[in-house]
Amino acid sequence: MSVVVLEEVSKTYPGVTALDGVSLEIGDGELVAIVGPSGSGKSTLLNLAGTLDRPTAGTVRVAGEDVAALSDRRLSRLRAAELGFVFQQFHLAPGVPVLDNVADGLLYRGEPRPRRREAAAKALATVGLGHRTGHRPHELSGGERQRVAIARAIVGGPRLLLADEPTGNLDSASGAVVMGLLRGLHEGGTTVVVITHDRDIAAGLPRRVEMRDGRVVRDALD
Ligand code: ADP
Ligand code: MG
Repeated sequence: MSVVVLEEVSKTYPGVTALDGVSLEIGDGELVAIVGPSGSGKSTLLNLAGTLDRPTAGTVRVAGEDVAALSDRRLSRLRAAELGFVFQQFHLAPGVPVLDNVADGLLYRGEPRPRRREAAAKALATVGLGHRTGHRPHELSGGERQRVAIARAIVGGPRLLLADEPTGNLDSASGAVVMGLLRGLHEGGTTVVVITHDRDIAAGLPRRVEMRDGRVVRDALD
C-alpha cells in the first residue's frame, strides 16, 4: 500500500521550474532519504507530498486521496489525521511551554485540552523529554527543541512523517539523536521521509531518492 503517489508532478513559479514531471511512490513503512543540491526541488517535493502546496501539473495522492479533489478544509483534516512535519528551524511557538507546544499539534482533532496534554506528555516521554515539559523553547538546546518538534509531529500518531533537513541546524551529536528517534519511529511502523544534506545520514537509510534540477535522477533501494 502506498502512502504517497506522485504522477508526473510539476511545480512552477514565474520563471522557475521547481519540480519537473516527478513520479514517485512511497510505500507504507518505508524510510526514505531525499538528497540533492540546494535548489534542486527537495522542499518543494516534500511540501507537495505533505499537501502543504498544490502542484501546477500532475497528480498527488496521499493516503489514497487525490489532493486536487479536496477542499482546503478537507486537506487540513487529512494532514491532521495522517501527517506529521519536522523542519530545520523547529517552528515552535516562542514563550509557550513545551507541553502545550506539543499538545497544540492536536488542535485540529477537536479533543479536549486535558486529553491533548496527556498525549503530549506521552509524546515528550517518547523523545526523552519527559522531564522538560514545563520548559519554554528558549530554555532548551537546539537538539532538545528538535526533539520537541518531533514530539509535536508524532503526537497524533501520523502514518507519514516528513522531515525537511531536521539535523541541518544541529551539531552532529544532536543530529544523531534526532536520526535515532526517526529510525525508532520507522521501526514502530511510521513511514518516514527525510530530506538531508548529510551524505553519511543518507547512506545509512534504506532508500535514497536523488534530486537535481527539479527531477529525480536516482532512486536507490538497498
Ligand atoms: P531545495 O529544497 O532542494 O533547496 P526548493 O524546493 O526549495 O529546493 O526550491 C526549488 C527551486 O524552486 C529553487 O530554484 C527555488 O528558488 C524555487 N522556489 C521554491 N519556492 C519558491 C517560491 N515560493 N517562489 C519562487 N520560487 C521558488
Ligand atoms: Mg529545501
